[in-house]
Amino acid sequence: MKDVFFIERDPYAPVRHCYTISKILYEGKSKYQEIMVLESPEFGKLLVLDGVVQLDEKYEFLYHEYLAHVPLHAHPSPENVLIIGGGDGGTLREVLKHSCVRRAVLVDIDREVIEVSRRFFPTLSCSFDDTRAIVVNEDGYRYIQDYENEFDVVLVDSTDPVGFAHVLTTEEFFRFVHRALKEDGILTAQTESIHYHLDMVVKIQNNLKKVFPIVDLYTSVVPIYAGYWWTYSIASKKYSVRTPRRAVEVPTKIYSEEMHKYAFLPENFYRRLLSGEYKY
Ligand code: SAM
Repeated sequence: MKDVFFIERDPYAPVRHCYTISKILYEGKSKYQEIMVLESPEFGKLLVLDGVVQLDEKYEFLYHEYLAHVPLHAHPSPENVLIIGGGDGGTLREVLKHSCVRRAVLVDIDREVIEVSRRFFPTLSCSFDDTRAIVVNEDGYRYIQDYENEFDVVLVDSTDPVGFAHVLTTEEFFRFVHRALKEDGILTAQTESIHYHLDMVVKIQNNLKKVFPIVDLYTSVVPIYAGYWWTYSIASKKYSVRTPRRAVEVPTKIYSEEMHKYAFLPENFYRRLLSGEYKY
């Protein structure tokens, strides 16, 4: 059989990944975005939104474990967690591994992403039926405005900050999150590539610093994301975040107490990155 290729259509990255594809499993268009599910011999199934690969079955843990477990272990007892975006369910799965979590609300604007994930990605969508999970289909920017002193941890697992996801990077949004968090709450957001999107990373960090007393940046390598070296911005009202505050008892593939500490950039490099001294 001849190889068939899928070339990513990422408006926000200077490279285009090209995947060998064995099958197109699903193609559709929701009210918000184009949704595709592709089968790749190397990566397993791929979820593609508006031409951008969001996750692959083989390496998704590298993103979801870091997004969820770093803030959840920096908090002494997270009970009430809000996920904005994350309609594939991977972040929810990681959050609900914590037995202290009593309620996890997932707010994804697009119901169809959840339906597609339930149908094609059982290893990601496996926690939607957990009794502690609440799924809401609404714009996260709108949803958060109704809450005050409600959540221990808020996780932003959104698509690239263009279009309807852009509002999730603004100072106004972070002020709403600050109000919705309890007095010792923590926010983490995926904030794109450390190299290809450095201006965006710096902008988001500066927006967070206007609102939260403790702001930091950690990273993981995600082989399918443009630039590979992916950033997560973390903001905390009270607790330092560079070391876990609880023993790591959840089952993981890569996250551990040691990986938590190594995920954070050395202080000097972090400072140079934000001040613009790190040039390339
Ligand atoms: N891990 C992925 C990545 O970084 O490429 C993100 C995957 S997840 C499927 C992204 C989800 O965010 C999508 O399902 C999209 O519908 C949702 N989303 C984007 N903007 C949103 C908003 N303003 N409110 C709620 N959900 C949003």
